[in-house]
Amino acid sequence: MPRQTHWSKMHWSKIDAISCLAEASTLCATLDGMRSIHTQAAVLAKPRGPVAIESVYLGEPGPGEVLVRMEACGICHSELYVQSLEKLPLAPLTLGHEGIGRIEAIGPEVNGWAPGDRAGITFLGPTCGACEWCLSGRERFCPKQANFGYSLHGALTNYAMAPAAGLVRVPEQLPADQAAPLCCAGWTAWGALGEAGLQPGQAVALSGLGGLGHLALQMARHRGLRVAAVDVSEAKLEMARQEGAEITVLAESAGRALQKQHGGVDAAIVLTPSPAAIQQAFRSLKRNGTLVLVGISVNQYDLPLVDTIVKGISIRGSYLGPRRDLPEVFDMAVRGIIRPHSHTHTLQEAPGLLEQMRRGDLMGRAVITW
Ligand SMILES: [Zn+2]
Ligand SMILES: [Zn+2]
Repeated sequence: MPRQTHWSKMHWSKIDAISCLAEASTLCATLDGMRSIHTQAAVLAKPRGPVAIESVYLGEPGPGEVLVRMEACGICHSELYVQSLEKLPLAPLTLGHEGIGRIEAIGPEVNGWAPGDRAGITFLGPTCGACEWCLSGRERFCPKQANFGYSLHGALTNYAMAPAAGLVRVPEQLPADQAAPLCCAGWTAWGALGEAGLQPGQAVALSGLGGLGHLALQMARHRGLRVAAVDVSEAKLEMARQEGAEITVLAESAGRALQKQHGGVDAAIVLTPSPAAIQQAFRSLKRNGTLVLVGISVNQYDLPLVDTIVKGISIRGSYLGPRRDLPEVFDMAVRGIIRPHSHTHTLQEAPGLLEQMRRGDLMGRAVITW
C-alpha cells in the first residue's frame, strides 16, 4: 500500500480490504465501509507481565481523538517502572511516551489539529485545565492528569490513537529520532536543572549518564555550570568527558570523592532510581546544597536526618517540566545546543531493548523508528 502523508477521511474510506493483507500494519476499510486499523505495538500484557510486540486493533478516532502515524518513539527507563507496578490503570497497555508522528485522521470535536500536522506524545496527556496546578502552569501535578503509556495507550506503535488535548507541537526541522528523546528525557532533564536553581559557575553533579543524563549534561554546560558526571560505567564517564564534564567519578564512592577532592557540589541531580546513588549524591553536596530526585522506581531511600538539617539541605522531586518548557527544549535541539545520542531500532527490538536498559547496557537513547 503506498504511504500517503495526508490522510483525509475520504482517502481512508477508499482503501480496500485487500491492501490490508499486504502489510502487517496498515489502515484499511472493510468491504462494508467500516474503518478499522490493525497495527503492531509494544504491549505490556498485565501488571508485572512481559512486553511483547502484539497486533492491536483500533477503531476510528472518537470525539477529541486523533490517529497518529508514528515516526519515532524513544524507550524510557520509566517504562520499567510502569512494568514493575502491582496495579495498572489500563492493561493490556501499549507503552511509550517519547513519540513523534503525523496526524493521519481526526475525530469529531478536535480543534487546532489537522491531518499532516506533526505531533509529539509525551508522558503528560490531557489535564483538567481548571485546578490550581493547571491554572499556574504546573499541569504535570494535576490530580486528574492522564498519562500516555500508563493510563492511556502510548506511542510504541505504528499507529497511535490519542486525545488531541494531550499532544504537543514539534518543529518540522528536527529529525524524528532526534526529537523523540526530548519528549521525556530532554523535557525532564531541563526541568530538573531548573529545580536545582543554580547560577553560572556553580557545580552540579549528574548521577546516571543514560538517556536523561547525557542531555542534562549538554544543557548544564549550555547554562554555564560546572559538571561532575557520576556513573557506574566507565564508558558512560568517557562519553561525559567528551561532552565537557569537568569531573568524572565512579558512582560507588562519588560522595566522598566529590567532597574530598572538589569541596562538594552546589546541587546533585539523581537521574537513576538507585537508593545507593541517592545516598552518594547527598554526600556530595555542599552546605545549603540541593538534591534533585528524578529517576523513578518503587524503591524507598534513607537519608541522614541530622545532616539534612544542620547542613540546610533541600531535597526536591522533579517530574517532567512545565508544558511551556517543551518548545524551548525542541528549539535547543534545532539550534544544535543539545544533540540527543539516538540509536535507532525497529519496533520488534523494543522488548529486548527494555531488558538491556534494565541491565544498564544502553548508551544514549534507544529510539524506535518507522
Ligand atoms: Zn520517560
Ligand atoms: Zn488540573
